[in-house]
Amino acid sequence: MTSSHFGYHGKILRVNLSNGSITEEVVDISTLQQCLGGTGLGAKYLFEEVKPDVKWNSSDNRIIAFTGPLAGGPTPGSGTISFVTRGPMTNMAGSAQANGFFSAYLKSNGFDGLIIYGTSPDWVYLAIEAGRAELRDARFLQKKDTWETEDILSEQFKSKKASVYSIGVAGENLVKFAALAGDKGHVVAHNGIGAVFGAKKLKGIAVVKDKLLPPFYDRKALVELSRAQFKYSKEVYGGARAKWGTAAHVAALYKSGQLPIKNLSTSVWPHYEKFTGQYIRAHFEHKPKPCWACSLHCKYMKVTEGPYAGFEAEEPEYENLAGFGPLVGNTDPGATVV
Ligand code: SF4
Repeated sequence: MTSSHFGYHGKILRVNLSNGSITEEVVDISTLQQCLGGTGLGAKYLFEEVKPDVKWNSSDNRIIAFTGPLAGGPTPGSGTISFVTRGPMTNMAGSAQANGFFSAYLKSNGFDGLIIYGTSPDWVYLAIEAGRAELRDARFLQKKDTWETEDILSEQFKSKKASVYSIGVAGENLVKFAALAGDKGHVVAHNGIGAVFGAKKLKGIAVVKDKLLPPFYDRKALVELSRAQFKYSKEVYGGARAKWGTAAHVAALYKSGQLPIKNLSTSVWPHYEKFTGQYIRAHFEHKPKPCWACSLHCKYMKVTEGPYAGFEAEEPEYENLAGFGPLVGNTDPGATVV
């Protein structure tokens, strides 16, 4: 690595699922500078390696996962990973991102990204630990959902912290809108990437936290900027979003006629108060669920009333609450997380 690689290792992993080979590859500095960020790098490799006639479920399609230059640093949200592939919904290029820890942990193993191709003869998952990667038998994980898979694989790494992204039954069965989910509540959702994993018989990827983070040009300045960004995020909207989550805005949106109700057919909906962050935080059980370097508003939630009492999931953001609540005429906020 040269000093001009600041924020990157200049190294990725290539994984051939057809023959099980895994190789390390150097990425030159000009590529890292020209295609800044996970999606930029992913788009470059997809464009160069997946020709127009390659179908989404072909062995020649790629699953490309890249980190950005801030991954693993002190900036809130820098655990975000970007996946790029040709997806089944359009048979065209697509990218999707998810927060959590994956990007930071991948970087901490000395890698900036992954390029996965081929098709495995049987179900496998990719394990990355202590700077090494290997494909492991995943037949025992078939028909497990993503939370079960995450629990089982995390247990295998004992006390070490692992980030696990996997597909559930939908991805295994090539449902065209199947997602990839990980870090208990984060979803790589666009363009059916879960089906691409399924077509390659790749159940998931588990990466264990390590210590090999790349240097930053001026870490002190980055820490100061990150603190300022976090402070702004806590104080914006009078602190309401940090205190109540993005659902803090439900009441204001309702009163100003902007809440989507019954497929936008009315603006009258007396149930809106049960969908506010204020109601949900007061009536359901919560515990903090921060991502890498971030401790803003995100929480696990346990439903405590209604027919879904006892169900646990990540607290929905405003979009989920509105989409599975007023937009479809559902009056039970607990049902929006099921
Ligand atoms: S904790 Fe919430 S706000 Fe912070 S990075 Fe994760 S999803 Fe985003």
